[in-house]
Amino acid sequence: QPTDANLDAYWMPFTANRQFKKAPRLLTRADGMYFTDDKGRQVLDGIAGLWCVNAGHNRPRIVQAIQQQAAELDFAPPFQMAHPKAFELAERLVELTPAGMNKVFYTNSGSESVDTALKMALAYHRVRGEGSRTRLIGRERGYHGVNFGGISVGGMVGNRKMFGMMLSGVDHIGHTHDAARNAFTVGQPEHGANLADDLERLVALHDASTIAAVIVEPVAGSTGVLIPPKGYLQRLREICDKHGILLIFDEVITGFGRTGNPFGAQTFGVTPDLMTVAKGLTNGCVPMGAVIAKQHIHDAFMNGPEHLIEFFHGYTYSAHPLACAAALGTLDTYAEEGLLTRAGELGGYFAECLHSLKGLPNVIDIRNIGLVGGVELSPLPGEPAKRAFNIFLDCWEKGVLIRTTGDTIALSPPLIIERKHIDHIIDTLRGAIQRAA
Ligand code: PMP
Repeated sequence: QPTDANLDAYWMPFTANRQFKKAPRLLTRADGMYFTDDKGRQVLDGIAGLWCVNAGHNRPRIVQAIQQQAAELDFAPPFQMAHPKAFELAERLVELTPAGMNKVFYTNSGSESVDTALKMALAYHRVRGEGSRTRLIGRERGYHGVNFGGISVGGMVGNRKMFGMMLSGVDHIGHTHDAARNAFTVGQPEHGANLADDLERLVALHDASTIAAVIVEPVAGSTGVLIPPKGYLQRLREICDKHGILLIFDEVITGFGRTGNPFGAQTFGVTPDLMTVAKGLTNGCVPMGAVIAKQHIHDAFMNGPEHLIEFFHGYTYSAHPLACAAALGTLDTYAEEGLLTRAGELGGYFAECLHSLKGLPNVIDIRNIGLVGGVELSPLPGEPAKRAFNIFLDCWEKGVLIRTTGDTIALSPPLIIERKHIDHIIDTLRGAIQRAA
């Protein structure tokens, strides 16, 4: 059993989990929609683990695929070698992506995918003789993982304040000023295009010929479930096209069915140049990510021996056989059970239930798309994020796992969820919000 002493002695938990020490929450099993904790309690999973277990837990096809792969081929060096499942998976992924996005590069996480995509964008411009395009643009309240590229383009200032040095030449599209925030939170369609015009401001400031890429999440998850207003992503695409800037979608959360289509790009009808995925790619079972690129981007830096040497990138565990097997088992499960469109089918019911929380004490906004939802609460005076965290603890006690992103409660359940589970999550949340008043 963990005690304060052995926690201190042996283990450095994920640093955002300092609260863990006060009340250890240990998970020992998981099946379908439920975790089991060390006391044998069943806990309904309202966040798909960490936005990743889209097919639910302990799925036979995935378990078998991993077991079989471990016995058959445990490792294949990704340099100068490969194994058949790496190709099979790439083909299967490309079937799901928007037309034209057909080159797959494997990584081991969302953070690695982001830094890989940024490097690809820079390399693309450089090999085309546009080496002056080195600026990268992210979005205020964007989250792109924890590596240097990701925290530089990410919009969470707190995540980079301890490190002094960041990538240089990074800017962020505005987001948090009142008009922008309202447009995102309330989803006012008419503001979408105007909001994206903030990118034109940066283009005017720096000159388009210095800008390599813009990176955004189609729906920001970790910074509070922010759904872009209508026209926003379209306008970003237009502006990028006009100025020769690459558009990167970080689909680490929105990928694999979360918004009702395989990818957010399809839900919003906008095709990026590069997209990053992870999480749902292996149903959370084995670490894996990928960058998926348009053919011409790949060709620019991969055609010809000089470019191969110029663009050196890859990991020991790129296309790891266990990860590829897990991902293939995951895609099979998604396909057999129609999970990649299920969020669209159940999204209406989910929205109805979520919006029934309107009017509860301290609820100031409710946002949703597909099977992802956010309930924003007014913060406790002087204690940001505390009210939401108290609600998280209360739900945990009552056997429901949710997530907090600042003072927004986030829901992102496995896509196998049924109406009765949605009812249970919402009823539990309702009680917790009332008790926190
Ligand atoms: N991008 C986005 C949009 C994410 O939500 C996350 C993780 N929450 C990441 C990148 C980083 O992924 P990982 O934790 O697998 O490195």
